Amino acid sequence: MSKTGVLTVMSGFSGAGKGTIVKGLLADHDYYLSISCTTRAPREGEENGREYFFVTREEFERMIRDNEMIEWAEYAGNYYGTPKKAVEDRLSEGKDVLLEIEVQGGMQVKKLFPNAVLLFVIPPSAEELLSRLRGRGTETEEQIRLRFEQTAREIHYIKDYDYVITNDELDKAIEKINAIIDSQRVKPVFQEDSIQALSQGITHLIDSSELGKKD
Ligand code: ADP
Ligand code: 5GP
Repeated sequence: MSKTGVLTVMSGFSGAGKGTIVKGLLADHDYYLSISCTTRAPREGEENGREYFFVTREEFERMIRDNEMIEWAEYAGNYYGTPKKAVEDRLSEGKDVLLEIEVQGGMQVKKLFPNAVLLFVIPPSAEELLSRLRGRGTETEEQIRLRFEQTAREIHYIKDYDYVITNDELDKAIEKINAIIDSQRVKPVFQEDSIQALSQGITHLIDSSELGKKD
């Protein structure tokens, strides 16, 4: 590995603030946000190729068969998946990549990319979660109930994540995430080039018979 970016997975309860946090992260950092494929219909204001690539079930199933997805999952009756090529290309250019995906996908990424960092976003309380979902105004009360049931299931996956981020004050949550991503770069796996150069330098000095000569 000569140069690789940090791969970050962000999951969390619906309404916890993932979308809002991602906007904040992109506002002052040069992260690449992966655009997923989905079979769900676009919501009002969503554009193909911006929020998602909106594809048919047939096309999605073809992409799975042709191994074009890093991970995929079925969520609320629709397929969602991360296209492989864009993510791999950006990582190999050394760019940091963000995936905003649900927990089953998060677990697949963890297996495939052991150096990925997995973040789980939670709200400060259940009441605040409900108030945010209602306040967003994009779901009916019945859909909100279904999302709460989904949330109750997702809680069991949190222990498999690396970090839990409470999104109480937005700016603080964003600051913490930027710090976590930055701290990945001092892990040995991201320092391989420096370590190799240093190792060659040390071997060279040992071999050059320069050591032990001074005084
Ligand atoms: P998610 O993408 O996790 O479903 P959103 O980013 O859409 O959640 O946020 C849900 C609602 O909560 C939005 O109306 C958003 O403006 C609001 N919100 C997000 N973060 C905060 C925060 N830290 N404090 C108060 N409201 C927030
Ligand atoms: P929504 O329909 O509200 O946009 O997204 C529903 C859920 O699908 C969210 O939890 C979102 O994080 C997740 N999701 C979006 N894209 C992907 C993806 O590529 N893979 C997986 N596994 N989940 C995704």
